[in-house]
Amino acid sequence: MRLQFLVQGSSPKPYRVTAEGVGQGLRMFCTCPAGSRSNVFCKHVAAMLMGDVTKLVQPSDRVEDLREQAKGSPLLAQALAHVPVSEQKRRVEGFDNLQQVFAAYEPVVVQAGCEMRFRTEDVDGYSEHLEVFGFTPTGRRSKKVTLSLSYFTTAFDELFDENGKIYHANHRPRVRPWTVRKGGVPTSRKELATSLPDFIDGVEELVQRSRRTE
Ligand SMILES: [Zn+2]
Repeated sequence: MRLQFLVQGSSPKPYRVTAEGVGQGLRMFCTCPAGSRSNVFCKHVAAMLMGDVTKLVQPSDRVEDLREQAKGSPLLAQALAHVPVSEQKRRVEGFDNLQQVFAAYEPVVVQAGCEMRFRTEDVDGYSEHLEVFGFTPTGRRSKKVTLSLSYFTTAFDELFDENGKIYHANHRPRVRPWTVRKGGVPTSRKELATSLPDFIDGVEELVQRSRRTE
């Protein structure tokens, strides 16, 4: 399947980004000066692969199709590496729910050889979780969650009953709903704007690690 996008670059005439093939066979072309030289991965191709629609001349729902087609493509990791971390963080702070984060980062996590799952829970209040299964220190695929980003609607206190058993009480809306855990340990409990960059750092570490073990 062939997809085309018109992207506004530095010249008045928009550049044309073309995608052909799927998965590992995906190939991307751009008519900009950098992209039209062979073997140069330009920022317009990177932007399309990362789902950045801000420079599209016209809105296109084909960007979602491209992200489907790009699953399993090595170009995804290349695209992520191409976008400066500061830029990724600035851009993704616009996410307002975990499904959006999942849609954007699952292909990258899969490309790094890891797995990401989305789940919800309804114990002591509703919560949503993005869980990444990365690598153990010896380089094997971990069966445990190595990195997670969670949203908890509800806070509570842990109290002891007269038999010394823990119970949960004083349920209330949580003021700082977002939590990042690395290796099971909470690293931050705060707003999305600060937790999401932590999470993306974690994903980036996984991508780097998968490159080293190749
Ligand atoms: Zn280009």
